[in-house]
Amino acid sequence: MKRISHWIDGKVVEGTSGRQGVVWNPATGEQQAAVDLASAAELDAAVAVAKAAFPAWRATGLSRRAEVMFRLRDLVDANRKELASVVTAEHGKVLSDALGEVARGLENVEYACGVPNLLKGGFTEQAATGVDVYSIRQPLGVVAGITPFNFPAMVPMWMFANAVACGNTFILKPSEKDPSTALLLADLLAQAGLPAGVFNVVNGDKEAVDAILAHPDVAAVSFVGSTPIARSIYETGTRNGKRVQALGGAKNHMLVLPDADLDMAADAAVSAAYGSAGERCMAVSVVLAVDSVADALIDKITERIPAIKVGPGTEPDSEMGPLITGEHRDKVAGYVTGAADEGATVVVDGTASVPAGDGFFLNPTLLDGVEPGMACYDDEIFGPVLSVTRVGSYDEGLQLINDNPYGNGVALFTRDGGVARQFQFDVQVGMVGINVPIPVPVSYYSFGGWKASLFGDQHMYGPEGINFFTRSKVVTSRWPDPATSSVDLGFPENR
Ligand code: NAD
Repeated sequence: MKRISHWIDGKVVEGTSGRQGVVWNPATGEQQAAVDLASAAELDAAVAVAKAAFPAWRATGLSRRAEVMFRLRDLVDANRKELASVVTAEHGKVLSDALGEVARGLENVEYACGVPNLLKGGFTEQAATGVDVYSIRQPLGVVAGITPFNFPAMVPMWMFANAVACGNTFILKPSEKDPSTALLLADLLAQAGLPAGVFNVVNGDKEAVDAILAHPDVAAVSFVGSTPIARSIYETGTRNGKRVQALGGAKNHMLVLPDADLDMAADAAVSAAYGSAGERCMAVSVVLAVDSVADALIDKITERIPAIKVGPGTEPDSEMGPLITGEHRDKVAGYVTGAADEGATVVVDGTASVPAGDGFFLNPTLLDGVEPGMACYDDEIFGPVLSVTRVGSYDEGLQLINDNPYGNGVALFTRDGGVARQFQFDVQVGMVGINVPIPVPVSYYSFGGWKASLFGDQHMYGPEGINFFTRSKVVTSRWPDPATSSVDLGFPENR
């Protein structure tokens, strides 16, 4: 059985805890590897390595740090296919989707190549006579990233590219369900010339996470995962004096107005609901259809579903792969049965006729007549299940979106610019798409939801990512003639 270990101090380090997790092949349902799960003592050892690497790395010149990022950029670019095939092998998503994930992660490495510019401070000459004031941004020290299973390449790159470029040293705790991509990224960082100890991968589960949150030498924690864990990471981490950004789950709505192009809206809904088998935090899971177009829209979505090719991610013609585990597949299937029991209409039942074999497959499901209060509406299903909720008007749709406890992504489909502008003004969601179903911001903006989709003050990557991984210092300086010096107990004034 293949063994997946840790990456500490620039090399693979086998675990010593005696605990291992199962890494499945979701397309076959077989175990393909065992991943070492770190103990608190192993986490401590990794933090000690990262702490020791910090002084030299923060003292390394910005142009040298940028050079490492430029080299990493070329290496990730050259290894796109390998990275994507590792993602597909363990996560199950189709290769084209995995390549897209790598490309979106790479954008963050490209952004971090600009670190000399990103860390520029302000300078005020002559704030008072002979006094200059300037601001600088400095790294925090050892910082940690804890990442979910659904983007094993992109989400780590969201975090470590900026963190490392800013001069921090990094501990990545990837999802134990698909840990290999993190080790491949660690190897590419080493090839790019990153000194040993600056980037470390500690595989593990709750025990490793708890150890990160308790460790006094971990200055900050960047987390992406489900809402209950995000909330608890934020509460524990901040109670322990750490800076924490914790991104959680989602329930993303797509509001389709009667003036929208219904074919375009149906294409977008199908792509955004069933892409990556719905295992995306920005997946559309509810279409809010205004009554007058609801029947037509449902017909158009329904007619597109049979054309979706469900199969192993490695097959070139597959468009949708399996779910991450058998347990998760069964949970998602339970929502489909539950929806019928709660009074929704199962228009397309994805639990029927799944591909042969023991892989964790489910076909796309479409539900109609879904209402708040039903589990399929209230919960983040995280699978290929699209619900349609009929609304009487734009206002009713907006109200439902704003009443939802999550606020990650939302999409509006319309041809009316005035309504779209009002929507962006009123909607209580962090990332808004106007005729764009999955509005993941480019790397030079920042990614983050509102409400139960994010705990903390700073969004992920982009300018807010730079702020998160640095702290500011303001220097007030003067170079007076000592001959003019005297004791003055008054509070310094600038005039
Ligand atoms: P998860 O919360 O189960 O796991 C995320 C991380 O937390 C993993 O590294 C895992 O090992 C760790 N973890 C799990 N249980 C823990 C516990 N009890 N204590 C401490 N650590 C624990 O999430 P997942 O299933 O890997 O990922 C899917 C979830 O992530 C979905 O809810 C999805 O919406 C969310 N997600 C959010 C975003 C975003 O940007 N908001 C992006 C991707 C995924």
